[in-house]
Amino acid sequence: MQNPFSALMQIAARPDLTFVRGEGGYLYDTNNSAWLDFIQGWAVNTLGHCPPAVSEAICAQSRQLINPGPAFYNAPAVTLANRLAELSGLDQVFFANSGAEANEGAIKLARKWGQQHRNGAWKIITFHNGFHGRTLATMSATGKPAFEPLFNPKVPGFTKVPYGDLDAVAAAIDGETVAVLLEPIQGEAGVIPAGSTFLQGLRELADEHGVLLMLDEVQTGIGRTGSLFCYQRHGIEPDVVTLGKGLGGGVPIAALLAKAHACCFEYGDQGGTFNGNPLVCAAALAVLDAVTAPGFLNGVRARSKQMISGLEAMAQRFGLGEVRGEGLLLALETGTVDAPALVKAAFAAGLLLNAPRPHTLRFMPALNVSEGEIERMLNLLGGLLERQVTIG
Ligand SMILES: *Cc1c(COP(=O)(O)O)cnc(C)c1O
Repeated sequence: MQNPFSALMQIAARPDLTFVRGEGGYLYDTNNSAWLDFIQGWAVNTLGHCPPAVSEAICAQSRQLINPGPAFYNAPAVTLANRLAELSGLDQVFFANSGAEANEGAIKLARKWGQQHRNGAWKIITFHNGFHGRTLATMSATGKPAFEPLFNPKVPGFTKVPYGDLDAVAAAIDGETVAVLLEPIQGEAGVIPAGSTFLQGLRELADEHGVLLMLDEVQTGIGRTGSLFCYQRHGIEPDVVTLGKGLGGGVPIAALLAKAHACCFEYGDQGGTFNGNPLVCAAALAVLDAVTAPGFLNGVRARSKQMISGLEAMAQRFGLGEVRGEGLLLALETGTVDAPALVKAAFAAGLLLNAPRPHTLRFMPALNVSEGEIERMLNLLGGLLERQVTIG
């Protein structure tokens, strides 16, 4: 029989099955087999699979207006931009369709700002093991070693320094530097938090040298870390923030936010056919309504505590490593246990997990994950570890 997947370009190793339905914390394939999902579309399904509020917003908007085009204002985009500005403390918003595209916009904004305000400075400091996307410029900004040999020559102008090393950043800033760009928690690198001291130090350095501080909150934004934005937990305000993943609750929308002093795009500098269309903005508004509802973020923090203490108990029981992260972006160091093998075993047991590194598991459930779902995940994982540890 012909492989039904052969018409798709093979860009990742995927299991030979097709998911056809999702509901809350669970995904179902064509045989109606269920998986408990702690990947959630790669931290995009803020409210789980097919949340009624998002489905209804999309349905209602699709009957009103799907896309008048980017040359005209539309009501959901205007409302969403105002809400994001108000909630973030930043001033203006540019909508995009992916995290990479939002970061690409941030890079362009910084270069334009450098032309206008910093004698043509254009270099951006980024960090080892950081991740900013898969367009050519964002791959160039990314500090993932596996990207280094790919698609050369890269876009020039990214100076990479060790994450957490304030002295290295200070030493790297020169007259051609226009910005510092980082994730407040490095997600793809294995959930590595920058921490308050480093973030506050960067804010001071940026002010001292007159460069922009740009935070890639594509993975950490929209409640993922227990605050609406991760920087709010660390006592700083960035000049530029990018959002993606969780913003649309599963649909493709991303955003570039900037303080007024950094907003320098002129007509023709930036745009996109689908950007800020009412359909995806309506979905994002439904997500924001839910995440900013009273008590929601308290729930995220309570589930985070539950998961951290469960994972820590497991680490102790099986002699594993540390538990890290903030909110519901957490990682467990698996010690000598092979994390990708554990992910495979979990898949066979009906649990979706991610291993961003050979000995690291990452957890990114829906932000409205239930106490029972976390308990079930911990039990399943504990059972697998028991077998792995006794076999291995
Ligand atoms: C996922 C991710 C991106 C890229 O977003 P896409 O929507 O896949 O383009 C960029 N930065 C960070 C921190 C991410 O986690």
